[in-house]
Amino acid sequence: MASSPAKVELRELGNTGLKLSCVGFGASPFGNVFGQVSDDDAITSVREAFRLGINYFDTSPYYGGTLSEKVLGKALKAVGVPRHEYIVSTKCGRYIDGFDFSADRVTRSIDESLARLQLDYVDILQCHDIEFGSLDQVVNETIPALQKLKEAGKIRFLGITGLPLEIFTYVLDRVPPGIVDVILSYCHYSINDSTLEDLLPYLKSKGVGIITASPLAMGLLTESGPPSWHPASPELKSACQAAAAYCKEKGKNISKLAMQYSLSNKDISSVLVGMNSVRQVEENVAAALDLETAGKDEETLSELEAILKPVKNQTWPSGIQQR
Ligand code: NAD
Repeated sequence: MASSPAKVELRELGNTGLKLSCVGFGASPFGNVFGQVSDDDAITSVREAFRLGINYFDTSPYYGGTLSEKVLGKALKAVGVPRHEYIVSTKCGRYIDGFDFSADRVTRSIDESLARLQLDYVDILQCHDIEFGSLDQVVNETIPALQKLKEAGKIRFLGITGLPLEIFTYVLDRVPPGIVDVILSYCHYSINDSTLEDLLPYLKSKGVGIITASPLAMGLLTESGPPSWHPASPELKSACQAAAAYCKEKGKNISKLAMQYSLSNKDISSVLVGMNSVRQVEENVAAALDLETAGKDEETLSELEAILKPVKNQTWPSGIQQR
């Protein structure tokens, strides 16, 4: 009989009581944002993810204009794992036709998301990229609306996401403790940008669960490079491509090193990586398992950090100026 495969580590998410796989399944690729993904590839990727211990899946109505939620829902149904064995987060407030963080819109939004996902509830609902809305509206209107959805049993926990790190302190300093359960930060805990690190003690003091996304910097830290819509400067893109080429020459995979970099901080409960194939699922899980047994490849990482030094912590503008 075949032995069962090694599975990725589960980590507690703040005070939620949830235990998330440290490698989280980012389902934005199911919205075809990184190229076409067939339903078959989506289903086989999700099946393989479960087999290797991934229990956390993230999507949004924004990804592919609702396509990601529909395809994830179809894949979860096809694979048929019992609902209590996995964790799903989706988002509200950001849509293909714009932003709307009003109580009315986010309250309708969850029903639409649940229908597309073919689920009765989601574990986490997050206000999506709040730097594009009024942060005061998020504090005073959107979060209270999400609390009502919690009471109605449509969501178990609520959170906020976005790129600029100041949005997290702005909101968390203005809501009572225990109201915001989770924050999701992206592109700030990767080899080229690790600015989230300084905020971790604050986030822990607020008792929020910490999820990071885009360990591959939305494709910058891959051999094939980022999609055409990637917002990085030409300088940042070419430095990352030079780092990827250096790794390849050395017989190393930059995506593996990038995953391990993000996974190595255990204050981060889950690292969401966008995946669209069984091979990517297997590679990212292998990166996590190798990290547990062999640790980080410190030598190559410090070489990469040297290549990326001129662009270290360089980011790009996101959102509207409001303060
Ligand atoms: P990412 O850094 O995870 O990169 C994804 C890209 O890398 C895709 O093209 C994918 O096919 C490719 N890839 C994945 N594994 C690979 C491997 N082993 N080798 C080579 N290439 C590989 O960026 P992302 O998808 O934007 O982020 C991950 C997830 O986090 C998203 O799917 C989404 O769920 C979430 N996210 C949320 C927000 C937000 O809430 N504002 C922002 C960004 C990401």
